[in-house]
Formats: sequence, C-alpha cells, structure tokens
Amino acid sequence: MSNTTRDVIIIGSGPAGYSAAVYAARAGLMPLLFEGDIAAGGALMNTTEVENFPGFPDGVLGPDLMEKMRNQAEKFGTKFVTASIVQAELDQEVKKVTDSAGNDYYSRSVILATGSRYRTIGLAAEERLSGRGVSWCATCDGFFFKGQDIAVVGGGDSALEEATFLTRFARSVTIIHRRDKLRASKFMQERAHRDQKISFLWNREVTDILGSEKVSGVRVRDVTSDSEEELAVTGLFIAIGHDPEVDVFRGQISLDHAGYVAVDGRTTLTNLDGVFACGDVVDHEYRQAITAAGSGCAAALDAERFLAALDDCASPEEARMEASALAELAY
Ligand code: NAP
Repeated sequence: MSNTTRDVIIIGSGPAGYSAAVYAARAGLMPLLFEGDIAAGGALMNTTEVENFPGFPDGVLGPDLMEKMRNQAEKFGTKFVTASIVQAELDQEVKKVTDSAGNDYYSRSVILATGSRYRTIGLAAEERLSGRGVSWCATCDGFFFKGQDIAVVGGGDSALEEATFLTRFARSVTIIHRRDKLRASKFMQERAHRDQKISFLWNREVTDILGSEKVSGVRVRDVTSDSEEELAVTGLFIAIGHDPEVDVFRGQISLDHAGYVAVDGRTTLTNLDGVFACGDVVDHEYRQAITAAGSGCAAALDAERFLAALDDCASPEEARMEASALAELAY
C-alpha cells in the first residue's frame, strides 16, 4: 500500500485534520490521515466540556467530539494510520512522507494539520516533576489538587481560564505573571479578579520548581528588583502559550513572523505546490476548534481544486495558480 501514489495525505488528527478528511473523502479523494503515535484527536482530547462548538447546545465532551469527527471521516472512506510523520519531502511533484514506523508514503497533495504544542518554561525541574505536581492541563489534572494551594504561570486567556477552573478543586490559586499587565481578554480578567480564591503575583518569573518526588514549592524572581522568594505550593500549572508543530517541515515550508506555516492570503496554499496547511499550525489568533474545522474544510477544497487542475494536465505550478485563483474568487 505504501508505494501507491495517493491524492491526499493529511497529517494531524485535530478538528482541522478530521474536517479536511471528511471533505476530501466525500470528494472521492480517499485520504490517508496520520493521526499520531499516541495522542490522536489533538488538543481537544485534553478538554472536558466544549460548550461553544455550534450544533451542541448542551455541550459535548472534547474526546466525544473528536470521536464523532473521526467516525464521520471514516464513514466516507478516510483511512487512518496511527503513527506520526517524522520526515517529509514536500518540494517535489509527488510528495514523500515517512512515518515513525519507517514506512514511506507518496501523495500528489499533502494537508498539514499538525496543530501546536504547549510551551515549557525551560527549567530542568519541569520535566522531572511533570506529572508530580507540574501540569499543562487543568482539566486533566485539576481533580488531583483538592484543597491544595497551587500556582498557574502565564498572563493570557489560557492561564486565567485554567486558574478559574482550578478554583473548583484548589484552596487557593496564585497566578504568577512576568509583567504587571495581563494579556487575557477583559472578560477573563474580570472573572479572575472576582474569584476569591485567585490572587496575583506580578512581575515574577519562576526560576525553579522545588521538591524531590513531588512539587513542594516554586522559587520566583521579582524582575523589577531581582530579589527571589519561595512560594509554598503543591502544584504548578504552566499556561504560557503554544508553538506550532512545524519541525518536520522546517526548511521546506515558509513560516510567518511568529513561526506558523505561512499561507497565501485567506487560502490554505503554502509556498509549496500541492501542500496546504490548516488549523492551529497556521493560526495564532483564533485557535478555536470551530475555526480549525473551518480551515480544514478550506484545505480539502483547495487540494481538490489543485488535483482537478493537475488532472486537466496542468503543471503543478499552473495547478497551484488555478487553485489559488479559484479560492481568491470566493472572496
Ligand atoms: P498567549 O495569549 O500567547 O499568552 C501567553 C502568556 O504566557 C502571556 O501572558 C505571556 O506573557 C506568558 N509567557 C509566555 N512565555 C512565557 C515564559 N517563558 N515565561 C513566563 N510567561 C510566559 O497564550 P494563551 O493564553 O495560550 O492563548 C492563546 C490564544 O488562545 C489567544 O488568542 C487566546 O485568546 C486564545 N484562548 C482563548 C480562550 C477562550 O476564549 N476561552 C482560552 C484560552 C486561549 P506576556 O504577556 O508577557 O507575553
């Protein structure tokens, strides 16, 4: 099977990848989707209730939503490979990708829907105490911190959302932020300020996480005075943003100023003919399940137009221009 040249390979299994798969499969393109080694389903697999995905007035659990999307893609003929792509040659007419099991796959078009990964502070103790008090997912781990004093690092919407959620379990939540102004939206800020369990530690950087087996505290530095102090907490949630998953494509694919895959205007066309990108690997602004799903749909439509032009004997460059012109016409 791996030596066949396919029409569409989709890399990534979040809302963008699955939506691209639904559209490509319904167009008869028989997509092959690489869903990752362990974490199929993307970031929503770490979410509990999703209340803002249209069509679910009573909310839906993140993993349930992803399972529904996967089933829908499968129903129309998408094939799945439970592996990650570790190598890609995308700058030729027939693209080649290699998965983590060492198998090669070939395709006339590739849709990148690899999403983004959470940032780390960069401390040695972070990895050592991961799962022992250090966490990146309040909805996954909050339950374990009942009645405890914990801290959240960050000043964006994620940090405030996590902190607010964590007050369901914790006795107190201290938000440690490196500046004296939050980046989070006004609504989130107001909600956090109203919460009696939340307090703020401004202008502080976490310089160390204390504890040998479990987190027992954090050391923080006041960036204005350079003085250090210790805060006794048994949990540290890190919510300082995400980075796009582009390592495998770096050097081939053009990136924007923030390191995300650059696309042509409002289309999903990348700098490479026949390579399209969608979801959080492109988007550092909206980053919602619904916007990722929408851009996955657009990527499948762009790929379909590109392939149709190739079938009409256009060169890859001409096919790309045709797909681009058709996409731009829509706006
Ligand atoms: P973000 O907006 O990029 O905020 C990251 C925060 O972490 C910033 O406050 C930043 O500080 C801080 N930070 C970054 N690197 C750091 C480091 N090495 N050490 C300490 N602090 C560091 O990321 P986000 O909060 O994950 O949000 C991403 C996007 O998703 C945003 O558009 C957001 O609106 C959206 N979002 C929306 C919701 C919602 O509406 N329910 C929930 C979550 C996220 P500085 O401020 O100093 O740069």
